[in-house]
Amino acid sequence: MTTVTYNAGAKRKTNVEAWVRARIKPDQIERYLDSGRCFIDCVAIEQALAANTRPDPVRIREILQKSLAVETLTPDETACLIHVQDPELLAEMQQAAAEVKRKVYDNRIVTFAPLYLGNLCVNNCAYCGFRCSNVTEQRQVLTLDEVRRETEVLAGLIGHKRLIVVYGEHPKTGVDYIASTLQAIGDVRVKTRKGWGQIRRCNVNAAPMSVEELKRLHEVGIGTFQVFQETYHRPTYERLHPRGTIKGDYLWRLYAMHRSMEADVDDVGLGALLGLYDWKFEVMGLLCHAIELERKFGIGPHTISFPRIEPAHNTPLAQHPEHQVSDEEFKRLVTVIRLAVPYSGMIITARESAALRREVLPLGCTQLDASSKIGIGAYANDQPEGDQQSDRQQFLLGDTRSLEEVIRELAEAGYITSFCTAGYRCGRTGKKIMGLLRSGKEGQFCKLNAVITFKEWLDDFAGPETTAVGEKLIAMEMAQIKEKMPGFYDQFVGAYLKTEAGARDLYF
Ligand code: SAM
Ligand code: SF4
Repeated sequence: MTTVTYNAGAKRKTNVEAWVRARIKPDQIERYLDSGRCFIDCVAIEQALAANTRPDPVRIREILQKSLAVETLTPDETACLIHVQDPELLAEMQQAAAEVKRKVYDNRIVTFAPLYLGNLCVNNCAYCGFRCSNVTEQRQVLTLDEVRRETEVLAGLIGHKRLIVVYGEHPKTGVDYIASTLQAIGDVRVKTRKGWGQIRRCNVNAAPMSVEELKRLHEVGIGTFQVFQETYHRPTYERLHPRGTIKGDYLWRLYAMHRSMEADVDDVGLGALLGLYDWKFEVMGLLCHAIELERKFGIGPHTISFPRIEPAHNTPLAQHPEHQVSDEEFKRLVTVIRLAVPYSGMIITARESAALRREVLPLGCTQLDASSKIGIGAYANDQPEGDQQSDRQQFLLGDTRSLEEVIRELAEAGYITSFCTAGYRCGRTGKKIMGLLRSGKEGQFCKLNAVITFKEWLDDFAGPETTAVGEKLIAMEMAQIKEKMPGFYDQFVGAYLKTEAGARDLYF
């Protein structure tokens, strides 16, 4: 018996090793390089930062005008904003950031929930609780039945319409598994108070994939494809992601979004994990990435994420990040990203505390998660709100408030929660959405869809207090639609009344 077990284990190990070796396709990196060079030039970034440490207020105000015209800033302009210290000028920057957000996204906020499907991982990232050398982590991959049960809670009890599904990198959770879980999630429909609930958009946060694999996910139906570069600073990247692991290949990761575009998955999400290297450098890296995608494909990032490292089980580096970002620095970098890439969605996750999320939201964020649980299987397990299982999670969350609490607070502050997922289903992705966002026209569809989907959620899931606040907000929104889009008003009211009567998933 012992021999059999030993052989089976050894064979499994060999299979995993072979899978790892075949992951990276060098030609799917090389074809995007410019004369053999990648688009992140660490020296040029350091020089731009060093050359713009004392920005002139007149120049700063010119740069703000450019952001307000929804134009992407240059590295030098961004470096100037990064170095502003004068409190008055900083306040002007924050006002301009809020104005850019209003201009492009109005008062809408999109909500979603993270759904972790597995924590097996062949990589060994120094900051992550899922890294393969973390022997104390409880490993699990959800079966399709378990995935359906998680989805039933998210779509049927909480009322989410959008998820970000998250995977480690492992043959057991490769593209076949990702495709079948996306299908399983999309197929779940749950009866609600007045209609039915369903996840209508699945964004994916997974390891970089090949063009062929991404084409497969495109056929199945994928929302935004997110890959965070973690750090754009190559020496730091190579130190924290061991050589010989898949993730140890900086360029395979850096060109993940190029492959995504080539596979027609053109809503892509960039991100940097803050705390690994100087945040100023990471903001410049994100900007260079956005500029590169605009230049090569005519499409910038659909979203930008800027997670800070959170404590993770048995993970010393996450307890004490080498370049910890303070709350003040965090607010500054959110402001700068909003101004530097004005059209992009910006995600503030529940890694941050409720108090800090309240502060940074007005600086230009467009999306947040709520009722979030990141333990594998944690939604259907009935894990109480606020309880965290550190040895089954990648890290610990800072804000565990329910979706209803978050929506009510947002509505009281004048923000409408939009559950709209029409964009990619109507082909408003990539270049099309970029054009609409820059011109402010996307807002017309979005406003109508925001009201209709918000009404759906109120009728299906809200308690009396939230309903009262929400209905007041809807009345204000409808008055605005009547005034600003009179040509659409009757058609809009028709869809609104059908929704009130129990119809679901109507959109413009
Ligand atoms: N495994 C895939 C990968 O690494 O690309 C995708 C999923 S990974 C679970 C999602 C993201 O979590 C990573 O890209 C990283 O930025 C972030 N992350 C890892 N450890 C973290 C920590 N301790 N605190 C906050 N975020 C963390
Ligand atoms: Fe694996 Fe992703 Fe965690 Fe790295 S960050 S150890 S790749 S799950």
